[in-house]
Amino acid sequence: MENELTTLQDAIKYFSNPVNCREYVVARRWPNGVTCPTCGSANVKFSEKYNRWQCGSHHSMRQFTVKTGTIFEDSPLGLDKWLCAMWQVVNCKNGVSSYEVHRAIGVTQKTAWFMDHRIRLALRMGSFEKLSGEVEVDETFIGGLARNMHKDKREARISGTGGKDKVPVMGILKRKGEVRTEVIANRKKKTLDGLVRGHVAEGSAVYTDALPSYNDLDSAYLHEVVDHAVEYVRGRVHTNGMENFWSLLKRGIKGTYVSVEPFHLSRYLDEQMFRYNNRIDMNDGDRFDLAVRQIVGKRLTYAELTGKENPQA
Ligand SMILES: [Zn+2]
Repeated sequence: MENELTTLQDAIKYFSNPVNCREYVVARRWPNGVTCPTCGSANVKFSEKYNRWQCGSHHSMRQFTVKTGTIFEDSPLGLDKWLCAMWQVVNCKNGVSSYEVHRAIGVTQKTAWFMDHRIRLALRMGSFEKLSGEVEVDETFIGGLARNMHKDKREARISGTGGKDKVPVMGILKRKGEVRTEVIANRKKKTLDGLVRGHVAEGSAVYTDALPSYNDLDSAYLHEVVDHAVEYVRGRVHTNGMENFWSLLKRGIKGTYVSVEPFHLSRYLDEQMFRYNNRIDMNDGDRFDLAVRQIVGKRLTYAELTGKENPQA
């Protein structure tokens, strides 16, 4: 049944049953059978009445639920709400705002906002393999993030930063493959050159614009430059794939998100990268399945997110 989930309506219906929620997550979290999150023992006993397991070994924290050690830990919200919110975040092409999640699953907007951030944490990719082949490298500025802020906050930020309310972001794209992005402090050679070397295998073809910060790449790569003052494409030398990703990202931020502060930008990047990197040969159900497999070992408290206390979500 669960592999047949293809739409948000399917998901809402299926996950309205708490047993379905639990079984769906258990099958992905523990594909080889439930084990204790503390000691790893498979000698665990499930209590239907308390909806939790107890480990047979002797240590503290012997009891655990399907939420223990995941992005859902400590949340009083049911998995039905979590999974439906997750479906929305994972599958809406241009992103989904916390207002939409708030309306769809009936939690406060503030709670939905916090849920969205936890979900984005699950979407962060843990890939360390270097990209190779034909690779496009480009930077952009994400601007106007202050536009949607409260007036007093906006004024504080703008006066505090001399009006420079733009955040530089770097992107690296393997053609027909994965994209990686990162918020950067500046566009100096040390920053950009270092990131390319960290993410791209030596000997790859690397296409960049004419920014001098990329000049040293010639020593390790087949580095070719397209000077945007002159042309945008010279045969295979262009950064159009990266530019397409930027426009997708910017459309998402402008059209959907009510308040994206620069501080949170990297989480929006995680979300957009997840959808982009899992777009080929995957339907909504597959993408959701993959996201649920990534919920383990990631925690994010409201205090970490905002510096304030809020036990809501
Ligand atoms: Zn144990």
